[in-house]
Amino acid sequence: MEARFIISAAKPVQFPDAADGKTLPEVAFLGRSNVGKSSLLNALVGREGLAFISARPGCTQLINFYQVGGDFFFADLPGYGYAKVPERIRREWKELVESYLTGRGQMRLGVMLLDSRRGWMDKDLELKEWLEFHGRPFIVVATKVDKLSKSQERNALQAIRKEGGIEPLPFSAVTGRGVREIWQAISRIKTAQ
Ligand code: GDP
Repeated sequence: MEARFIISAAKPVQFPDAADGKTLPEVAFLGRSNVGKSSLLNALVGREGLAFISARPGCTQLINFYQVGGDFFFADLPGYGYAKVPERIRREWKELVESYLTGRGQMRLGVMLLDSRRGWMDKDLELKEWLEFHGRPFIVVATKVDKLSKSQERNALQAIRKEGGIEPLPFSAVTGRGVREIWQAISRIKTAQ
């Protein structure tokens, strides 16, 4: 899968409108810092794609936009929930992410990442409520399942399902598990247009 970096946007005027004259349906990736978002993006795009790099928590909040496979835009939203982040950066995050989620017309799907060992944390639940309030469709991905035994995994997925009312997709960047299912969910937004 070919991926092309478009821009790192610090404010809405920098959000890209179109690539090669086309507005493409967009998938937004959301999750706490260190949840495994860059690893998931790399696993989705594969070796021929770009190297997605995790943002350093505490730095200027940016949304990185990519064109993927000629069919989609991917928006890599800044991670949240890192304890040592100064208040100014937290505010920046909120402003940027809120303006994205309220204003981004071409966003068709959110991919919310949860660490399978931790499940829903307060910030994740807040963001989920936001997505629901604004009528944004999203899927939930439980990351790093390779770190769990079979029974731990069953319990973790059950807890996520129970608390969030959503069926999580188990994922591991180490084994590649879940890549196909996530691509299936992404592909559906194209046929749904
Ligand atoms: P980001 O901050 O959300 O972009 O997270 P990264 O993708 O940089 O991953 C954070 C850390 O978790 C890194 O040390 C990764 O190697 C590790 N990691 C990410 N995904 C997985 C996974 O599926 N399995 C395991 N075992 N480790 C992972």
